Amino acid sequence: MKCDLYVDGTWTASASAERIDVVDPTTEERIGDVPAGSSEDVDLAVAAARRALPSWSQTEPNVRAEFVSRLADELERRQDQITDIVVAEVGTPRRVARWAQVGLGIVDLREAVTAAENFPFEEALRNSLIVREPVGVIGCITPWNYPLHQITAKLGAALVTGCTVVVKASEVAPFTARALAEAVDAVGIPAGVFNLVHGYGPIVGEAIAVHPDIDMVSFTGSNSVGKRVLELAAGTVKRVSVELGGKSAAVLLDDLDADDFAKAVQHTVRACFMNGGQSCNAQTRMVVPRSRLAESEELAAEAVAAYIPGDPTDGDTKLGPMVTAAQRERVLGYIRTGVKEGAKLVAGSVDAPTGTGYFVEPTVFSEVDPDATIAQEEIFGPVLSIIPYDTPGHAVEIANGRIFGIAGAVWSSDPERAKSVARKLRATQIEVNGGKFNGAAPFGGFKQSGHGREGGSFGLEEFTEIKSLQL
Ligand code: NAD
Repeated sequence: MKCDLYVDGTWTASASAERIDVVDPTTEERIGDVPAGSSEDVDLAVAAARRALPSWSQTEPNVRAEFVSRLADELERRQDQITDIVVAEVGTPRRVARWAQVGLGIVDLREAVTAAENFPFEEALRNSLIVREPVGVIGCITPWNYPLHQITAKLGAALVTGCTVVVKASEVAPFTARALAEAVDAVGIPAGVFNLVHGYGPIVGEAIAVHPDIDMVSFTGSNSVGKRVLELAAGTVKRVSVELGGKSAAVLLDDLDADDFAKAVQHTVRACFMNGGQSCNAQTRMVVPRSRLAESEELAAEAVAAYIPGDPTDGDTKLGPMVTAAQRERVLGYIRTGVKEGAKLVAGSVDAPTGTGYFVEPTVFSEVDPDATIAQEEIFGPVLSIIPYDTPGHAVEIANGRIFGIAGAVWSSDPERAKSVARKLRATQIEVNGGKFNGAAPFGGFKQSGHGREGGSFGLEEFTEIKSLQL
């Protein structure tokens, strides 16, 4: 019997005998399996988290932060090993996986530690003492695309604020979560503070969403499942934060000179195609002045030529496979729809490359109607849509003309003008002239991209209840 759930500080067997195969998307070979867990597994994990809560929530914040800091150190020691796991189960090119997958997970934990140092766990307000207490037991339901970061973005903040957690990792990429649990075990985080269950969403995920002893669900994943989790959680009026899909736009303003325009296009291609386009914040729409459409097409075609689908373990590869055969079919379906709806295919193909692996050609469409399916729906693959605009106001209208709002970008030769346009975009993280990622800045969704924020002190606020003592 395999003991591959981590419950109450112990490797534990699932109550279910059913297993889920895990497949390497590059070789199409089975690389192992995990249990298709049951609601009994969830009950045990929740009971352990509940037992651990009184002591953990009373532990001094600096001691909790010290545990999280040691966990970050441990992940750093294991960075190469965990990178290999991510490459095998997600297909992210190794050169990207090391920093964007595993490195980002470490950053999440370190930012939570830093935020805890200055977090107002208690503060005076006239005659009141405002107290921020842990919400309690948190159910974390996470996706496959960044299988470490999507857990650590929740875990670091939950642990430093004194919450205990039950994590349900994605069944598509569960081995990274197992590696995280091994690191948790190695640094001696007290039993029951972190628990990991595996299984299918409709069984294990739903058992978490309805569980009366879970105080909050922190969900990252697709819109349809996020809505289902919100509905189920309503039965116990638990707090839910949802981080859902996106369709982010990069707006290139008309004042850029040729060099800066080229830089903006190259940057947008990178921001679209990273992790094979399987990122919620992928910049999948490039909104350009109509007068510069031909220039945009040429530059984008040139930039994507470097994204030759290939073996993600090879250090030169920039584009790995899609995570599953189903995901490849979904992406190819969107490319066919793009052609059918009349968009101009500048690069890529409606057919997958021949051979083994769930690969898709990097694809660029131009003259895309802002209301076309490929400009409206989240494709989650290496597909960029170039959309022309007539005035800056029109560009903002296009960028905001979606039900989503996670991220975006604005490029202009005038930084003040760029900032002014960035303020008009209804999304959470906007890069201005290629501004760098900041792990302490808030991440999350406007509109149907969800609600709640992760990152730095904003993440900590998610996991606290605020109360006041009138003195
Ligand atoms: P998904 O919604 O299919 O699955 C996410 C998680 O929910 C998995 O663990 C899955 O097992 C579980 N689940 C499935 N059905 C469930 C149910 N009925 N009840 C409870 N849980 C259930 O998403 P995915 O395919 O794993 O990930 C891709 C999606 O995640 C994309 O839409 C992407 O945009 C989104 N995402 C969003 C963010 C963000 O921060 N906003 C980050 C990464 C990914």
